[in-house]
Amino acid sequence: MPTHADVGVIGLAVMGRNLARNFARHGCAVALYNRSEAKTRALVDEFGHEGTFVPTESLTAFVTALARPRRLVIMVQAGAPTDTVIEQLTPLLEPGDVIIDGGNAHFADTRRREAALRERGIEFIGAGISGGEEGALNGPSIMPGGTAAAYEKVAPLLTAVSAHVDGTPCCTHVGPDGSGHFVKMVHNGIEYADMQLIAEAYDLLRRAGGQEPAALAETFRRWNGGRLASYLIEITAEVLGHTDADTGGPLVDVIADQAGQKGTGRWTVQTALDLGVPVSGIAEAVFARSLSGHAPVRAAARALPGPTPQALPPEDAARFTEQVEQALYASKVVSYAQGWHMIAAAAEEHGWDIDLGRLATIWRGGCIIRADFLNRIRAAYAADPRLPSLLADEEFAKELGAAQDAWREVIATAARLGIPTPGFCAALAYYDALRGGTLPTALVQAQRDYFGAHTYRRTDREGSFHTRWGADRSEERIG
Ligand code: NAP
Repeated sequence: MPTHADVGVIGLAVMGRNLARNFARHGCAVALYNRSEAKTRALVDEFGHEGTFVPTESLTAFVTALARPRRLVIMVQAGAPTDTVIEQLTPLLEPGDVIIDGGNAHFADTRRREAALRERGIEFIGAGISGGEEGALNGPSIMPGGTAAAYEKVAPLLTAVSAHVDGTPCCTHVGPDGSGHFVKMVHNGIEYADMQLIAEAYDLLRRAGGQEPAALAETFRRWNGGRLASYLIEITAEVLGHTDADTGGPLVDVIADQAGQKGTGRWTVQTALDLGVPVSGIAEAVFARSLSGHAPVRAAARALPGPTPQALPPEDAARFTEQVEQALYASKVVSYAQGWHMIAAAAEEHGWDIDLGRLATIWRGGCIIRADFLNRIRAAYAADPRLPSLLADEEFAKELGAAQDAWREVIATAARLGIPTPGFCAALAYYDALRGGTLPTALVQAQRDYFGAHTYRRTDREGSFHTRWGADRSEERIG
C-alpha cells in the first residue's frame, strides 16, 4: 500500500468524486474511500486515467495511504453522517493531521467539531465549497475556516483546485472555527435572494410588460452584458430560451411552480434572527419558496379578488423593461448589503476577524452568485474596510439614488396589477427605513411601556423612563 498520497477524499458521491478528480488533474496523488465500495471502483474505472488515485477499502487503509501530516477531505452527507465519519477517523489520525469538512455543515456543528478535535491535536477546517458538481470538478469557490496554522497546511491544495479570476484564487482563509461554513451559509442565502429577485423581474416583464419567454431570454441576455452580468442572469436567459421537446412550448411553462430548498437559506434566516440582523430580502426569498409549496392553501385562496390582469400599453413596454432593470439592480444591492451586515455581525459576535472585501474577491468565480458586481463590493471595502453598510458606500448610494424613482414605479405598477414582488418591496422598505432618519419605533417603545412597563429612552434627556399609564400618567425616571 503506497503511503504517499498528497490528499484523501472520503465520500465519493457527485461532489467528492469531482473534487477528487480535480485534485488528481492538478497533479495530486489522491487516496479514495467511500463507505460503499462501488463508488470508489466506479471512479477509478471511469476516470483513473486522469491522474494518480489510491483506492482503499477501509478507513485504516485510507489513512495509511496518506503522506504525513495527513490532509483529507470529508465530502459526505452533512449532519450525523459527518459526525460518524469523524468518530471513525479520529482514532486513526495523529496530532498535526488536518481534516477538511467540505460538506454543507451548519457552522455551529463546525465550531463544536473544531473544538473537540483541537483538544486531540487534530486540525479541523470547515470549508464551504460552492459551485455544485461542475464547480467541484472545474474549480469551486472555497471558504475555509479554522486556525491559520491549519490553513497554511492545506492552502496550496485548496487554492490549486479552486476557481481563479484574474489570476487570483477563489479561496482564502476566512477566519477561525465555523466562519467558513458561516459565510458559505450566507452565500447561499444571498443566492436565494438573487434568484427570487430575478424571478420577480421575469414575472413583471411577462405579465405587465407582455414579453414572452423567447423575448425575455433576449432581455436577460442583454442585461448580462451590463451591470447585472452574472452566472444567474446568464442561466436565466438560457432557461427562458429553452423549448420543451414534448409540447414545443417554453420549458418554463411546463415546470410546476413549487420550488424546493435544502435548508441553507432557512439556516441563514434563523441565524439572522438570533443575531438580530434584518435580512429581509433573503427571508422573503425563503418564504416565497415555502409559500409556493403550500398547494392546498394556494388552491383554497385562488378565488380571492384582484385587479383584472392586463399588460401595460405596448408603447410603455421598453421604458418598463429599463425600470425593472433598475429595480432589480437596486434590490440586489440591498440583499448583498444585508448579507454582508450579517457576516460583520457574526464576526463581531464570535470574535472572527473576517476580511469583508476578500469575501467578495473569492465569490467572483466558481460559485453560484459569481458576478462582475462583486468587484464593486471589493472596491467599496477597499475604500473603507470598516464600512458599516454597503449602502453607505458613495458609489452604491449614488446608483441607488439614480434607481429609486424607477424602483418605486415598478413596485407601484406591480401592486396596481396584483403581481407579487415580495423581494423588491422588502428591499425598498429597507432602503427607505435606513434613509429616512426617524422610524415609527418610538410609538412601539411607548406601546411596550404601556402594557409591559418596558421603559423608553427620550431624545432630549439621558436615562430610562416609564409613564404610569394606569395611574396619573406622570413620568418617572427608572435609571
Ligand atoms: P450526498 O448525497 O450529500 O452524500 C452522499 C455521500 O455521503 C455518499 O458518499 C455516502 O456514502 C456518504 N455517506 C452518507 N452517510 C454516511 C455515513 N453514515 N458514513 C459514511 N458515509 C456516508 O453527496 P453530495 O451531493 O456529493 O454532497 C457531499 C457534501 O457536499 C454534502 O455535505 C453536501 O451538502 C455538500 N455539497 C453539495 C453540493 C451539491 O451541489 N450536491 C454543493 C455544495 C456542497 P455511500 O455511497 O456509501 O452511501
